[in-house]
Amino acid sequence: MKETRRHTRQLKVVWDAVKDETSHPTADQIYEKVRATMPNISLGTVYRNLQKLVGEKKLKVMTLGRTQHFDPMVDRHDHFICERCNRVYDIFVNSRKKIRPPFLSRRGFKVTSHQLALYGLCKSCAE
Ligand SMILES: [Zn+2]
Ligand SMILES: [Zn+2]
Repeated sequence: MKETRRHTRQLKVVWDAVKDETSHPTADQIYEKVRATMPNISLGTVYRNLQKLVGEKKLKVMTLGRTQHFDPMVDRHDHFICERCNRVYDIFVNSRKKIRPPFLSRRGFKVTSHQLALYGLCKSCAE
């Protein structure tokens, strides 16, 4: 019983650290933030709870290179990635048209979603 309560609290602390984040933090960055509230928590525990939140569809994972970034914005949106500071920005491309290259369906592929990533320099890096 006590163990369950501890797990629930850990999950809540991890969720609180990430739920309002728009910066698409990595597990390490979330870990640093969580430690301010729960100094004894381990990176493994933070990571496990992040995966749990992904499983519950409260978080989305975005992989850039070999790094996973966590995103509490689960509604459909796209990203702008700054090539200099690696910051990830949410963008909303107002297009209801879905990208469906005809050759895919001709070859029997079924497209379920797409993700758009724009790369460049963010405002602070472009100045
Ligand atoms: Zn930048
Ligand atoms: Zn996002």
